[in-house]
Amino acid sequence: MAVRRLEPCVQLPLDEKTLKEVVTSARDWALMHGACMRSKTNYNEDILQFAPFALLPSVFPRKEFERAVNIQPILNELMHKVAHDHEFLTSSLKSTIEVDEFTGNMFKIYETVYNEGFAQRLSLGLLRSDVMLESCCCLDEGHGDDIKLAPYCCWKQVEINTIASGFGWLGPASSHIQRYVLRELGHEEKLENLPPNSALAGLCGGMIKAWKIYDNPKAVIMIVVEDVTYNICDQRFHEFYIRENHPDVGVLRRRFSELKEQAKLTDNKALFVDGHEVAVVYYRTAYEPAQYGGAEGWKTRLLIERSKAIKCPSIHYHLAGTKKVQQALAHPGCLERFITDSAKVEAIREIFTGLYSLDFDEHGDRAVDMAIANPERYVLKPQREGGGNNVYGQKIREIVEKMKSSKERTAWILMERIAPPVQKNYIVRPGQNNLPEPTDVVSELGIFGVVIGDAEKILVNEQVGHMLRTKLSTVDEGGVAAGLGALDSPYLADL
Ligand code: ADP
Ligand code: MG
Repeated sequence: MAVRRLEPCVQLPLDEKTLKEVVTSARDWALMHGACMRSKTNYNEDILQFAPFALLPSVFPRKEFERAVNIQPILNELMHKVAHDHEFLTSSLKSTIEVDEFTGNMFKIYETVYNEGFAQRLSLGLLRSDVMLESCCCLDEGHGDDIKLAPYCCWKQVEINTIASGFGWLGPASSHIQRYVLRELGHEEKLENLPPNSALAGLCGGMIKAWKIYDNPKAVIMIVVEDVTYNICDQRFHEFYIRENHPDVGVLRRRFSELKEQAKLTDNKALFVDGHEVAVVYYRTAYEPAQYGGAEGWKTRLLIERSKAIKCPSIHYHLAGTKKVQQALAHPGCLERFITDSAKVEAIREIFTGLYSLDFDEHGDRAVDMAIANPERYVLKPQREGGGNNVYGQKIREIVEKMKSSKERTAWILMERIAPPVQKNYIVRPGQNNLPEPTDVVSELGIFGVVIGDAEKILVNEQVGHMLRTKLSTVDEGGVAAGLGALDSPYLADL
């Protein structure tokens, strides 16, 4: 397939002396401004290292950026309505929960609190819709391997996250590093093409709004985290932002595993942790089986769901963000169930790429055949979050062949592989001795949304910022915490 190429925002390569100077100072800039993580290989709570970053902001078509920003409130509304549709969640997840224990456990909690009646009718959604530009849908007349991006290039949705949507801090921080770099390189005039990004303020604002709705000035916001946190800056900056800008609001940080001892429910369903009433529970964990540590973790999750604290996410929001639900939503005629305005339905439908179930029916059988015949055209996804779980290329054929007669296949979805345009950039990584070379990279944009509401009404619905992650064009996944991706931010260009 022809690879489309975008021209970088600064002519590359940079001369060696300039590159050396700017890389050295940008690394220090990142370290001193908290664009950092803890090392996975040399873990030490006292030591941070800068997160890998792209030296220059990656070019992104301005119109497509604006389209992503503008559609976010519609996606917020969609996800909110999906989360509150018991019949839809039940039917979409029916086959998956029979074979996928993790989703099954979540669903049991959902059924329990649904049948008991929700003690807290409101949910707080801090969502992130992830998208990639698609080269294939461009119309152009070019030839050969390197074809300029045509004006019709558009993005497609990768997924929408409803739990632990990260980079509210590292997103804006990336653009600050790159602003510094562009200035150092003498390109002050280019700064206007880096869109403002107030993701941290917007996401924290969502938590504060939920806290106010809870209406108990003594109650706290509780941030629930993993036992070991690598992505510490991206969590703590939220906490520090709230403490600094709303000193009246208490913030508690607790490991999920600590809560089995510390979390208690009162008779009127108030959640208490260490003597503090909790108004808002913000999860930065609990999206992977291992983070539950067995039955105790599931008991804790149920206890929290039963409480009248406002959860981010509530269990139904969490289920609405599963890949199986994403696939069900792409089914013809499905969006109309949630969104009545036909222009909005059309706008959402355009962002879906092909999504197929592997259920035991004629559609599922066809998807199995497609995956085996052309594995390189697809990504095979289980019901997991957090990166590193999907299957690509020839491995898809192997796995689908192996499970095609077993029920297990219904826990997976098949998605058309998006082929984003490439561009050159320098990726700066910690521990790198040599100067980086310009390399071919591709990017994934995430747009943040905040939504608060219950089954009847939506009280808050906003788009609040963005993040961009960039990876080498040759790797399948680009998790920054996993070391494969790099912080980046969009450079808007009228292509
Ligand atoms: P997770 O919940 O683990 O983040 P994602 O669906 O976001 O799962 O997939 C992880 C990564 O895999 C994405 O960030 C992206 O780099 C890559 N990826 C996922 N789906 C596609 C796709 N359809 N086409 C191309 N790359 C994809
Ligand atoms: Mg993802």
